Amino acid sequence: MRGLAAIILAVIVAALSAPAAANSAPSAYYAGLAQQETRLAAAAYRLTTASAGWCPQTAPQPGWILGDLRRFEPQDRPAAAQAYGASDGPFVAAVAPGSPADRAGLTSGTRIAAINGVAVPTYSDEPTIRIDAIIVTLNALDPAAAWTVTDADGRVHRIAPAPGCASAFRVELGGAQAAANGMLVRVTLDLAQSVADDEELAAVVAHELAHNILRHRDRLGSNRSAARIRQTEFEADRLSVWLMAGAGYDPAAAIRFWNRHKRPLIRDASHPPRSERIAAIEAEMAAMQTARAANPAARPAWSDAPPPLE
Ligand SMILES: [Zn+2]
Repeated sequence: MRGLAAIILAVIVAALSAPAAANSAPSAYYAGLAQQETRLAAAAYRLTTASAGWCPQTAPQPGWILGDLRRFEPQDRPAAAQAYGASDGPFVAAVAPGSPADRAGLTSGTRIAAINGVAVPTYSDEPTIRIDAIIVTLNALDPAAAWTVTDADGRVHRIAPAPGCASAFRVELGGAQAAANGMLVRVTLDLAQSVADDEELAAVVAHELAHNILRHRDRLGSNRSAARIRQTEFEADRLSVWLMAGAGYDPAAAIRFWNRHKRPLIRDASHPPRSERIAAIEAEMAAMQTARAANPAARPAWSDAPPPLE
């Protein structure tokens, strides 16, 4: 298990190491970060649990976003520690209201010393290695069973089961605006702060979650040609419509997002222009409406066995 976990962690770290952001206004900065982490926790909890039936792998979804002071530059860590009420070690950065973590009494700054009585390991100095270790641990648990968190004071919190898609979420301090690697969805602080409302944030999260559900990273493999990436972008846009609707969001929030968000998420010819994305989302909304009028439980036939990437 330790060997496998180390390999998985190496993949996460290689794919997702993002630069820490320098900052000059600590308290406002951390308050803003915490605010976006709370919004992301809420959207992620709602989308992952509502979408459980779509996912190739499910895992317990406690409804938290995890933090670690190592994500910040050494000179910024005291301010971050104060803002979160955190000490060294992985901690709860934010919880979704009403989620299992919230109901168990976990709050910002709660340090996670152990999961099911097993201490969270520290494999290296990587800024997120301890958070990633927790993600790997949760993915190996029975999603339908309760589990426990031991905090820094030795208190044991029982976390109620809440099966959801096996994806974790993070507000990044820099790097690409939004990305998904199969296990983790990351959204930058800038992007989270730029969306108009919670529904637009959910649209971004649903798109990235769809990449993970559709196993795009695996399916692309080493052939990341522009045409293949475009195909994955359209698939994610289309599936996000169903995920949004399933979680009680308005799928049209994605259209509002793209109409307002003139700057491409990734400056790359492989990513479709937003006019094409909007058209694809509109077409999928119409298809969903037609399918659901005939059968309220209808799903798109293509999503369970998507056509090969070409
Ligand atoms: Zn995408």
